[in-house]
Amino acid sequence: MSITAQSVWNNCLNFIKDNIQPQAYKTWFEPIMAVKLTDNALSIQVPSKFFYEWLEEHYVKILKVALTKELGETAKLVYIIKMENTYGNKQPFTERIPSSNRSAVKSQDVDVPLKNRDRELRNPFVIPGIRNVKIESQLNPNYNFDNFLEGDSNRLARSAGLAVSAKPGGTSFNPLLIFGGVGLGKTHLAHAIGVDIKDKYPEKTVLYISAEKFTQQYIDSVKKNNRNDFIHFYQLIDVLVIDDVQFLSGKSGTQDVFFHIFNHLHQNGKQVILTSDKAPVDMQDIEQRLLSRFKWGLSAELQTPDFETRVSILKNKLYRDGVEMPDDIIEYVAKHIKSNIRELEGAIISLIAQSSFNKKEINIELAKQVVEKFVKNTKREVSIDYIQKVVSDYFQMDVDTLQSKTRKRHIVQARQLAMFFAKKLTKASLASIGSQIGKRDHATVLHACKTVDNLSSTDKQFRKYVEDLTKKLSV
Ligand code: ADP
Ligand code: MG
Repeated sequence: MSITAQSVWNNCLNFIKDNIQPQAYKTWFEPIMAVKLTDNALSIQVPSKFFYEWLEEHYVKILKVALTKELGETAKLVYIIKMENTYGNKQPFTERIPSSNRSAVKSQDVDVPLKNRDRELRNPFVIPGIRNVKIESQLNPNYNFDNFLEGDSNRLARSAGLAVSAKPGGTSFNPLLIFGGVGLGKTHLAHAIGVDIKDKYPEKTVLYISAEKFTQQYIDSVKKNNRNDFIHFYQLIDVLVIDDVQFLSGKSGTQDVFFHIFNHLHQNGKQVILTSDKAPVDMQDIEQRLLSRFKWGLSAELQTPDFETRVSILKNKLYRDGVEMPDDIIEYVAKHIKSNIRELEGAIISLIAQSSFNKKEINIELAKQVVEKFVKNTKREVSIDYIQKVVSDYFQMDVDTLQSKTRKRHIVQARQLAMFFAKKLTKASLASIGSQIGKRDHATVLHACKTVDNLSSTDKQFRKYVEDLTKKLSV
């Protein structure tokens, strides 16, 4: 009896079927067709590139075992990717990927044109029943580069953004990750890039979405059993902007699906722009493979703006709103509100409102009252030095002892508590906390935070420490 591609593949399928979940078998193996057998290489045809990535990611081991059983140690697997037919184009687009060189293939930039653009797609932004193939970008035109003022604090991120919008997908800033604290302009800059791209390349499909909404759509798609439509939809985007990716932490299903969408877009030269309130090294509960993708491109930080930048942001805002305000008032506000541009703008708006409602003149007195309210409402941030001092006092040791290299249990605990509170009460990164508390690395701080969490739920005495210190440190 002669061996054919079909007979070899059937034997493989029998083996695989016995070893994986029936649903997975149905989804990932039934659609495959055996095409050809030459020498010791079996060619199989898969329906899409995504399919191929998924097989490589999840089933490459079992495929290898199955095929080696059939064809011996020199067995090879060749994927042929079949793209969907589209109107006017009866020729299927096929692509050959030799499996002898798999790892190289994965990173290689294979340009598979997206030809299923006209297939009916379930667009998660559109109310079911209404067919809408055009993808709305969800961008806010008020957030653009013209009104995103430049300063030392944002120069790198801003110019990286401009470079990306000049050549989306064509720079090494892919993904571009913009990170920084609350109210420092991440969302504004992310929109500005998208708006500028839409301006320069109207034919490109740009989509802005918050990580939270993305997660919700994903969950809905799983519920409605159209996860594949969800994935296909996102694979059509040329420029994908995802805001606040820290929201994905701990959500492994969403991370998994995003990983595959990301790979698809990246491999096809599409641009991905992400924002986060933390640097990649400080992101918790985000899978390593995703973090490593985030680091492929450029991570650019938005820092707190200096005084001059704060003044020019305020002046620009007043100018656009057509409001006049004396310089000394603007400077007073800029001097006292430092760490958040949203609050800076909030104070000025509140000042204008107060003066017009109460028919009061805008003067320094009024500015003081308004600023005071803002400063009071924003909790004062305690310093890491202060935390170390309070914790050492509480355990009756000095700060040097707390920072020392000793492994004595009560000292280790004090140090871990200091790290825990530094993480909880300051905006410092894990790395920066570690370097300030006895020159430890970020992993040590992370471990300390977890240990404190664990101990305070299992150890009564320890919980008391945490409660006492929380009181002492509250401002
Ligand atoms: P984040 O997303 O980092 O929390 P946002 O992008 O929402 O911050 O910005 C908060 C506010 O500050 C917005 O109104 C935004 O327009 C404004 N803003 C931030 N950075 C700048 C800047 N460089 N120039 C002008 N306005 C800015
Ligand atoms: Mg934001």
